[in-house]
Amino acid sequence: MNGDTATFPMGGVHPPECKELTNNLSIETMPTPSEVRLVLKQHAGAPCEPLVKKKDKVVEGDLVGSVEKKLGANLHASISGTVKGVVNAFHPIVGKAPAIAISADPQAEGKSYQPVDWRAFSKEELLAKIKDAGVVGMGGAGFPAGVKLTLRPDVKVDTLVLNGAECEPYLNADNRCMIEYSRDIIEGAKIIMTILGINYCGIGVEDNKPDAIQALRKAIEEDTSKNGFKIVVKPLKVKYPQGSADQIMQSVTGRVRPSGVRSSAIGIIVHNVGTTKAIYDAVVLGKPSYERVVTVSGKGIKRPANLMVKVGTSVAEIADYLGGTTPDLAKVVIGGPMMGFAVSTLDIPVTKTTSGVLFLTKDEIDTQPYGPCIRCGFCLEACPMGLEPNNVSIYVEAGRGADTAQFGIDDCFECGSCAFVCPSKRPLVQFIRLAKMKIKESKGK
Ligand code: SF4
Repeated sequence: MNGDTATFPMGGVHPPECKELTNNLSIETMPTPSEVRLVLKQHAGAPCEPLVKKKDKVVEGDLVGSVEKKLGANLHASISGTVKGVVNAFHPIVGKAPAIAISADPQAEGKSYQPVDWRAFSKEELLAKIKDAGVVGMGGAGFPAGVKLTLRPDVKVDTLVLNGAECEPYLNADNRCMIEYSRDIIEGAKIIMTILGINYCGIGVEDNKPDAIQALRKAIEEDTSKNGFKIVVKPLKVKYPQGSADQIMQSVTGRVRPSGVRSSAIGIIVHNVGTTKAIYDAVVLGKPSYERVVTVSGKGIKRPANLMVKVGTSVAEIADYLGGTTPDLAKVVIGGPMMGFAVSTLDIPVTKTTSGVLFLTKDEIDTQPYGPCIRCGFCLEACPMGLEPNNVSIYVEAGRGADTAQFGIDDCFECGSCAFVCPSKRPLVQFIRLAKMKIKESKGK
């Protein structure tokens, strides 16, 4: 590591960035959709229990689902309207999932929120506001933010790392948040540090986002209420992957998390910059987490955009709003091209963790069928965790899914670097996901 840029020792690939379609587009608020479907499980943990029933009237921001006792996060109405009931909605990972459907009241006005001084709240009150608002990790994992910030008394942390790497090609949701909501993010960082009882925060931003780096540094400089907090923006050398918790911690602090323990065991709590903005909204505005920035990109959408979207809005309504898709559309991906999930329908709702929707044409995707493993070892070199994706894939093809545990695949965070470098185009991440499922099944989980 040197002073200005940081890298991590293993792995790393350089897929084409493809960010130019949306990196200069300001966040645009999409009008209220005609209907939303709020998936009951859009966070790590147990699904929500619905608190509303068919024909109930709800107002934007009303609590409509909650999880009692177990790990989970509250769910709020993202629009005002009438509950149509609990329906089966398409889901990019599990296929179909129960969701509360709400049809919009076209007469309803958008809700407005007034800021308050968060310093008036105790740590317990700050934490309760984050939990009540249903804030979850918006970078993809969906871990409930309030739970992450509730540490056992024997766990000592000294550093908050904010993840602004956004290393996935095409995506600019975090980039635009850092540019347009830099002050809110800095204030959100101070709220988190207050809860944790620490005063140091490092924000990791890849150096292909100079405007974001500048905006955050300006917000820090102009902050008149630093109160002993030290917040430093760390430009990082562009590398994929860099946005997982392990990579960003390593890039920003140089510390490495040993396998099997949480980041807090090495003194660090990591939050995505978008989550930090949601924490600011929850505490300062009292606004529940029911909308987010989504990058809509690819050559297959008529008008690419960075959209502020109500959670539950369907991809079909987003595509309509942006002028529709092009005739050569070949693939739709929820998330980024490296870690996202291809979907076969546009009738799929945005969740709290949807950072992007990509409409890709034939020349943006690989259509070659995959071949056998030629033992080149490229995937091994590319893997930031030092795993053996080639062996996992061979075992899975041979029907030996449960044996793959020996390769430490629990540490695989599905970055897709192995699949990207594989000359035989083998779908290594899909093999690994399958192996993980088989291992779970064999353990009866
Ligand atoms: S095995 Fe997992 S962590 Fe390693 S390169 Fe492949 S997807 Fe990434």
